[in-house]
Amino acid sequence: MALIKVNNLSKRYGNKTAVNNVNFDFERGKCIALIGPNGAGKTTILRTLSGLLKPTSGTIQFADEKENSDIRPHIGYLPQYPSFYGWMTGREFLIFSGELAYLSKDEAKKRADELLKKIGISEGASNERISRYSGGMKQRLGIAQAIIHRPKLLILDEPVSSLDPIGRREVMTLMEELKNEMTILFSTHILSDADEISDELLLLHNGEIVESGSMDELRAKYQTSKIELAFE
Ligand code: ATP
Repeated sequence: MALIKVNNLSKRYGNKTAVNNVNFDFERGKCIALIGPNGAGKTTILRTLSGLLKPTSGTIQFADEKENSDIRPHIGYLPQYPSFYGWMTGREFLIFSGELAYLSKDEAKKRADELLKKIGISEGASNERISRYSGGMKQRLGIAQAIIHRPKLLILDEPVSSLDPIGRREVMTLMEELKNEMTILFSTHILSDADEISDELLLLHNGEIVESGSMDELRAKYQTSKIELAFE
């Protein structure tokens, strides 16, 4: 059974249709890239799936949940521009986030330390203020916050697009590791990022899914490495 099934999803902002009648589903354990140019509707889809936006029409069915449930405890979400309390240390921030996710203080401390290790932030750095972190460190901390409650699906909105090459590599490596533990849906406008890490791609253009499949399937279909042709 699909982990998530999206049926005829549309989202309008006033007169502007940002997402138009989108259908897709995917299985557990996959890493899916939602790829499309600026303004294609990626953020809108991800915010709708994570429950932050209400669809104008259509349904999102998550395995084991009632249809169109507003509460999505199985989803972890990292927005495109996450915000942090720069005056907190990385460790304080994760403990605080754990408590917000209803962990007891002791559980939150344990989970914070486990996650700091997983995201490669040293003990020394974890006791530094976040304002001193690099872009890659902040993004890895954001991912740790998004998975603090052990979600089944991790949604990441453009997780590497604002990073320098080192930060990008660090985050891609972390995503590669997390793929073994949970299903990941992430957005990007860079085809090579999608190619590097995802099992399946959803190509979004003007709020509509114009193609889907693995990179190999898309290459075979377009008989070229220029999948961008699908957008034309
Ligand atoms: P980007 O890569 O630039 O973040 P995106 O693919 O994530 O783009 P969205 O942010 O989902 O795209 O936007 C889709 C369309 O909806 C765009 O035309 C955008 O201008 C419009 N839009 C997004 N949010 C709003 C809003 N709150 N009110 C009105 N229009 C909006």
